[in-house]
Amino acid sequence: MNPIRLLLLGAPGSGKGTQTSRLLAHFKHLQSVSSGDLLRQQIQRETQLGKVAARYISQGALLPDAFITELVQNELSSKGWLSPKSSFLLDGFPRTIKQAKALRSKLSPHKAALTMVVELDVPESVILERIENRYVHVPSGRVYNLTYNAPKVAGKDDLTGEPLTKRPDDTAEVFQKRLDNYKQTLAPLKQFYTDLGILHRVSGETSDIIFPKLLAQVDKAIYE
Ligand code: ATP
Repeated sequence: MNPIRLLLLGAPGSGKGTQTSRLLAHFKHLQSVSSGDLLRQQIQRETQLGKVAARYISQGALLPDAFITELVQNELSSKGWLSPKSSFLLDGFPRTIKQAKALRSKLSPHKAALTMVVELDVPESVILERIENRYVHVPSGRVYNLTYNAPKVAGKDDLTGEPLTKRPDDTAEVFQKRLDNYKQTLAPLKQFYTDLGILHRVSGETSDIIFPKLLAQVDKAIYE
């Protein structure tokens, strides 16, 4: 079994969180880090870092590269993932070319560089509709959708029973900014990973269509 260090790329609302949950349920040895979840947890705990993050997130702006890079890299080190045998999923980081280069410089000396990057390609019309119906459980990052993945009890997380919340950046106006940021930063990021020969892409309108395609690619990378 090969180690897999996977980055999921995709527009906001493309289902990175949902695909991450499904991959974690399938591959029990995998764990993940989501930059957005890390930030939302800091905001919920009302830390100093959370206060800074909230200002950017509420406007749909990206946090400074150095700030988010330090946060995620500290998380990777504290989890003991800077090792050639480690396997993990990253969701939401890196998302700029500077972040990608910084991460590579951090991981390469430990022979723990990313092994695979998959771009989730979902039509924009589908994405916009999803955002309106999205609710999250902040402590775990679990994502629900009122139309196709509703919680068992309205407004409550399935596993803990804790309350679900609407993300304050899931409004039409802020969402548009997030989408614009994504489009602006994507091309150089894709080029970087194409040059490294590790970029893949899966397309589809729903998470149910995307997941088997993603799984097939990850399976191949792990077992071939
Ligand atoms: P979705 O969760 O719908 O896929 P998203 O990718 O925009 O959408 P998150 O990854 O949760 O959402 O990020 C939410 C916000 O957190 C971003 O709009 C940005 O302000 C901040 N953020 C998260 N990751 C990064 C990052 N790598 N660099 C800069 N800012 C980030």
